[in-house]
Order: sequence, then structure tokens, then C-alpha cells
Amino acid sequence: MSTHLLHRAIHGHLPTAVGGKGIELFDAEGNVYIDASGGAAVSCLGHGHPAVIDALHKQLDRLAYAHTGFFTTEPAEQLADLLVRNAPAGLDHVYLVSGGSEAVEAAIKMARQYFVETNQPRRRHIIARRQSYHGNTLGALAAGGNEWRRTQFQPLLINTHHIDPCFAYRMQQVGESDEVYAARAAQQLEDKILELGADEVIAFIAEPVVGATAGAVPSVGDYFKRIREICDRYGVLLILDEVMCGMGRTGTLHACEQDGIAPDLMTVAKGLGGGYQPVGAVLLSGKIFDAFANGSGFFQHGHTYMGHPMAAAAGLAVQQTIERESLLANVVAMGNELERQLVERLGNDRHVGDIRGRGLFRGIELVADRATKQPFDPALKLHARIKKEALKRGLIVYPMGGTIDGVQGDHVLLAPPFIVDRNDVERIVERLADAIKAGIDG
Ligand code: PMP
Repeated sequence: MSTHLLHRAIHGHLPTAVGGKGIELFDAEGNVYIDASGGAAVSCLGHGHPAVIDALHKQLDRLAYAHTGFFTTEPAEQLADLLVRNAPAGLDHVYLVSGGSEAVEAAIKMARQYFVETNQPRRRHIIARRQSYHGNTLGALAAGGNEWRRTQFQPLLINTHHIDPCFAYRMQQVGESDEVYAARAAQQLEDKILELGADEVIAFIAEPVVGATAGAVPSVGDYFKRIREICDRYGVLLILDEVMCGMGRTGTLHACEQDGIAPDLMTVAKGLGGGYQPVGAVLLSGKIFDAFANGSGFFQHGHTYMGHPMAAAAGLAVQQTIERESLLANVVAMGNELERQLVERLGNDRHVGDIRGRGLFRGIELVADRATKQPFDPALKLHARIKKEALKRGLIVYPMGGTIDGVQGDHVLLAPPFIVDRNDVERIVERLADAIKAGIDG
């Protein structure tokens, strides 16, 4: 056992993962865990999928690495083609990177360079939402609205501006219709743009379904249609961060399809490579590509491992497998089943405030008092207790702390692999309900 590995040294006891098959992970002591969050919504195909392993072996035998400054590779080109073939309207180019934070950094810089190329260098503001997470590198962290993650790094962060998210459980008023609330929430963007100066804003960035920070929170009504209209009215670019909610997780390949809009830039990662390799991507619109192509002729950015052949081969194999096995239909069916069972088992629990999400992306918000929505005392660290109780029961879930920005309860995020069946869903809900009870009673 090494005490030199930082995450092991800091966490103290952590099981050593030695294997995985399907929806299960195995540790060195012989314990078996159902991976009901795919780590952090990563392992969409589960573990040890033979088609992906085979594709990776083949790629490794051919070529592990070639720098994009000198070469293109077949898997990178094929993955770009596949992504564009299935992309929301207008997104016709792909920039391959190694993960979500890198994708967000690149998208923000693309947005800024777009305005430099098109002679609008005054545009310099990024607007994002509170209760969002866009990554841990400095630019992505600055975009994210989670105070807990930001506070100690604040002096290093670029100046970004935050509006409220569209978060019905916490922010919709009693008696307020979805449409009225959606309009009120979206109006904050227009107000912020006007406050900053309409010709000084670069982009608005948002997660269509908020993941890590808030626990699978979709918008309501026509919120995103209004957001799209507001961005267009002021020439502001719309960046949708689908790193967690994208690539099939919510039942459509891209979460924004369910909102009926297409962004100017979209980031994906996690489920793109399903954890078989680190891979992420930015999808960009023809308008942005044209500005680069007709302007300086390049995007002033780059990483040593971008377009990595092994990463691209993993993304390609994972996405081809999802298509071949028609797994999105299973995400919809099992997502509905998961919701049904969660509501049946936990819907009347006095500490379950909200059960929400889409597809196989579901969040459960826990509160001390259901009537007032009062969160548990953060000092209890209920989310950490639930995580521990779940692990004891052979279940991996993704929990987050309470009173985020002063308003939110602890929550648990479920993001099981797309291959789950009814029986798996039953076992997940059973163990989770027990773990929540033990965590609260604890
Ligand atoms: N954006 C979103 C929406 C995310 O959920 C995450 C990761 N949780 C990131 C960006 C950052 O991705 P990564 O951890 O791969 O850098």
C-alpha cells in the first residue's frame, strides 16, 4: 500500500479496485459493488465491455500516439464524423481533448477568439449559473458557480458573472406555473447581459441538466428556448456543457434535444469514452469554424494529448456499441423504471424532498423537513454518511453536500450504466433506500 499516492494518502482507507464486469466493480478483498453512478456518470457501458477492449487492443497494436501538430489519425477522424452525424443542428466540427475541464477551457477560449476574429474584441464577459460545475481548471472553475469549490481559489479566477439556475424545487414559487417560472429564470440572463453591456458579453454557459452540484436538475417549461432567444438577440454565444448529462445519459444522445435547442458550442466527455480512456470534445458550429478559417486560420490553443488515438478509439468503440445495441432505448425504459421505483420506495419518506432527473440520470434531495424544505445541518455530512453506508451494502452512488450556496439539501446522484435491467434497478433502489435510512438514523 502506497502512502505516496495523494488521493489515497488523503482519504485514508480506500478499497483497491482490481476488476469490473458489466455493472459491477470488484475490490482486492473480494467485495463486489454495483456501480450505480458509473463513478461520476462515466461508465455508461459498464466495465469490461469486450467490443471496446477489442478495439483498444487493435489500436494499441497499430499506434498508441501521434502528435496532432504532425498527423491526423483514423480513429480521431472517425469519431469526429460520428459525433457530427449525430450532433444538434449546426454543430459541424469537433475538437478532441482529454476530459471535461479541458473541453470547457477550450470552449471558452473558442468563444473569445471568435469575437476577436470577427472584430468584436470588446466582448470579454462570461455569464454562468450558480449551482453549476464546469470543471476544476482555473477557467472552468471560474465559470462554475459552486462557492465551496471556488472560495479559496477566488483570487486566481477570471471575472465571471452568475445568475440563478432554473431549479424548480428550490426556486419556483408556490402556485407559479412552469412557464411563468421559466420566463422569470431566463429573464435573469437578459438582465445580466444588459447590466454588463450587450456588446461586451462573450457567452452564456450552462448544463442542460445540472449534475455534480445539484443532483440531476433539469429545467422546466421553455427555459432553454428563451435562453437561446436571448443569446441570439444580443449576439452572445451559447455554450452547453453536456460533460455529465450528455452522450445518452438522459435518454437522448444530447440532453439539449429534449429542450428543443442547439448551442453554438457544446462540451462532452465522461460518457463519450465511458471511462475506457480519458476523452472529451468540443463540438462547434459552422459559424465559429468559419470565423477561424477566414480569420487567423487556426485556434490558438492545444494540448499534447489532444486527439489521442487511444482515446479516440475508445470514444468511437463506446459510441458505436451504444448505437449497435440500441442502448438509448434502454436508457429511456430503465430511466422510467428507476424513477417509478424511487418514487414508490422513497416518495413518501419524510426526508426525501425531491426525486428528479431524466433517463438514467436521477437525483434525490434529502431534507430535514419536507414541509419547509429545510436542509440537514451540513455538519452532519449526511451525504458522506450515505456514501459510506451504500459502499457497505455494495453500492456506489455519487453524493454531494448540503446547503450549497445556502439553499440546498444533501443529494445523491444516480447514473448507472446504460445496460441495467429491471432486476438491477430493483437492487440499486433497495440498497440505496437502506443506505439513506442508515445514514439518517446513523
Ligand atoms: N463539466 C461538467 C458538467 C462536469 O460534470 C464535469 C465533471 N464532473 C466537468 C465539466 C469536468 O470534467 P473533468 O472532471 O473530466 O475534467
